[in-house]
Amino acid sequence: MVRRLFVAFAAVVAAVASLGAQAPAPSQPLDWDRLRPEILERYRDLVKIDSTPGRETLVVNYLKEVLEAEGIQTQTFAQDPDSANLVARLKGNGSKRPLLILAHTDVVPVEREKWPVDPFGAVLKDGYIWGRGTKDDKPVLAANLMTMLLLKRRGVPLDRDVIFLAESAEEADTTGAGINFMVREHFDAIDAEFAMTEGGGATLDGTRVTRVSIGTAEKRPTRARLVATGTAGHGSVPRLDNPLLHLAAALDKLGRWETPMRLNDTTRTYFERLAAIAPPERAAAYRTVVDKNATPAALSNAQRYLQEHDPPSYAMLRTSIVPTILKAGVGANVIPSEAEATLDIRALPGEDIDRFYAQMAEVIADPAVKVVPIPALRPASPASRIDSEMYRVLEQVSQRMYPGVTVLPGMSPAASDQAQLRAKGIQSYGIGPASTEADALNYPAHGDVERLAESSLYPFVQYVWTVVNEVAAHK
Ligand SMILES: [Zn+2]
Repeated sequence: MVRRLFVAFAAVVAAVASLGAQAPAPSQPLDWDRLRPEILERYRDLVKIDSTPGRETLVVNYLKEVLEAEGIQTQTFAQDPDSANLVARLKGNGSKRPLLILAHTDVVPVEREKWPVDPFGAVLKDGYIWGRGTKDDKPVLAANLMTMLLLKRRGVPLDRDVIFLAESAEEADTTGAGINFMVREHFDAIDAEFAMTEGGGATLDGTRVTRVSIGTAEKRPTRARLVATGTAGHGSVPRLDNPLLHLAAALDKLGRWETPMRLNDTTRTYFERLAAIAPPERAAAYRTVVDKNATPAALSNAQRYLQEHDPPSYAMLRTSIVPTILKAGVGANVIPSEAEATLDIRALPGEDIDRFYAQMAEVIADPAVKVVPIPALRPASPASRIDSEMYRVLEQVSQRMYPGVTVLPGMSPAASDQAQLRAKGIQSYGIGPASTEADALNYPAHGDVERLAESSLYPFVQYVWTVVNEVAAHK
């Protein structure tokens, strides 16, 4: 009898404990070890969906089912029914403006023969999860999804709404069905004070995270064509107005032109912090570019050094011009009347691009060569603040999770969907899971083969959860 009573009592305790595990009070810390199987399963579910462009609705269907099964209402918005977007919102008390957590659902195409495993198998091998999208962007999507589920299960009281957006068409945004459509047609559904999405990351040195990079700004693609014109004629008769010669001279002048160097809060802080951990020679170059008293010669040397040894840092210093396509000629014995080059120009935030084009024309100084702007696909976007509440939380959570870590704000030389959000006044920050430098190099986003260390997945979800709580939860 006593024994039966004890068994019954134990069963009640176990039932209460398991209830507690499902929905502990918001103040109780989460048991991250117990959450691992669920995190892994949901992340693998997402990787297993082949969501190459035009198939994003498959991900939306999955998310809708998972969120609604736990009582979180969703809305879908589709310009193209195959590339729908999904929004879910957990309401706060309205005392602060919303936080938007977003991720894109599409992945870039695969060349199957280059993969050692099924690119949509989410295969677990050697401590990694392998598959297209394992880095870009399904870790962020899975972390955002887990964060929504946990906020709801625990009934976390919120000062701000937390808005979840799964957006389509980021990788091949020729249709505009993703962020462009959402910003243009349904901005009310995603308007927020802060946003958090891909665009940052963390660096593993062995098993220790030594660097966290938070994306706060990006350059804007503002491409142009150089068009040289002259008189067509026979290849046996040299002409002074041969457009190939004029185009070649113009490209040579632009190649030698050092466009003006300009720092912003993000890049200044980036170089200052990097100098503290870089090897001596590099550190000296970083210190020089942020030194207001550096002599022109020292500045020039430091820039040469970076151009040669650290091209991504050199690119952060200026609006850059890179010729990428040349087109001219129809036959070996024909002087064409036109020759053209395509220039991939990446403008710093705040660049007056019309003035920049005019400066280019002055540098070229040749009336036979015209600068013809190519319409920009993304808006100009200001850098997000590095003294905001959200940035401070990102920095503090990084330092707490990875003691001794260096936190760097980052300006991407490439473009992302954060541009559209920043252009609408949202302070947007980029994050990402940790990789070693070798793994980031050999298995990168968009690479032939993509993979993520399983051991990086769980802390990343915890990071996102912690940041969202500190920014949005009622204290
Ligand atoms: Zn991406």
